[in-house]
Amino acid sequence: MSNHALHNAAEALKKARCAMAFTGAGISVESGIPPFRGPGGVWSKYDPDKFEKGYFKRHPEEVWPLLKEIFYDMYGRAKPNPAHLALAELEAAGKLVGIVTQNIDSLHQDAGSRVVHEYHGSTRRMQCLSCRTFFKTEAISLDILPPPCPACGGLLKPDFVFFGEGIPDDVHRAATDLAKQADVCLVIGTGGEVVPAGRIPIVVKRHGGTIIEINLRDTSYTYNTTDYFLEGKAGTRTPELVRAVLG
Ligand SMILES: [Zn+2]
Repeated sequence: MSNHALHNAAEALKKARCAMAFTGAGISVESGIPPFRGPGGVWSKYDPDKFEKGYFKRHPEEVWPLLKEIFYDMYGRAKPNPAHLALAELEAAGKLVGIVTQNIDSLHQDAGSRVVHEYHGSTRRMQCLSCRTFFKTEAISLDILPPPCPACGGLLKPDFVFFGEGIPDDVHRAATDLAKQADVCLVIGTGGEVVPAGRIPIVVKRHGGTIIEINLRDTSYTYNTTDYFLEGKAGTRTPELVRAVLG
């Protein structure tokens, strides 16, 4: 049964003119990055209210050490896993147009993927909330927290979406445009719980595209949206599918 789904999914990808991937926390778990939700998730240890933008601006000296611990120390040790590498290989072979990811860990880029729309931003940049200048994270020392803006001394905020913040227009537009054009969407490691990001596969489906889902267990997509469900670990099933496509 599962082999049948794998075969059909590989055939759909082979025939696709514009295939995309939509990824979430589940693709990075095997890289050592815990998901936010669920038992053992980041929000079981840290209070999500502290990552609300207004709270951060009022209490940066309290929130910055938490940001460093989660998003720079823990994420900094993570390496791409076989699922990230397989998607990069698919793109290099001309069989994947781009990725829309909800992850902020940059592991797709580390794996070699070129077209990556980071729907929730990334840890690679910071922005000064006073003078609005962007800085590369590696240019900012985290020895003193909160780190002061090198230009004006103002408060730096990581360039990913906090609670209480909207999705930047440009990335939302780029992701939605890709979803409208895609004839196949590979959904990996996400059940679409977070909106509006979670609507991306629905947009693909409404425009006639085929949905291939790789998840550990069934999700809200599985019965209403997904065409081919490959159950299992992203790091196992994604390379398996890519091998079936590229031979
Ligand atoms: Zn500044």
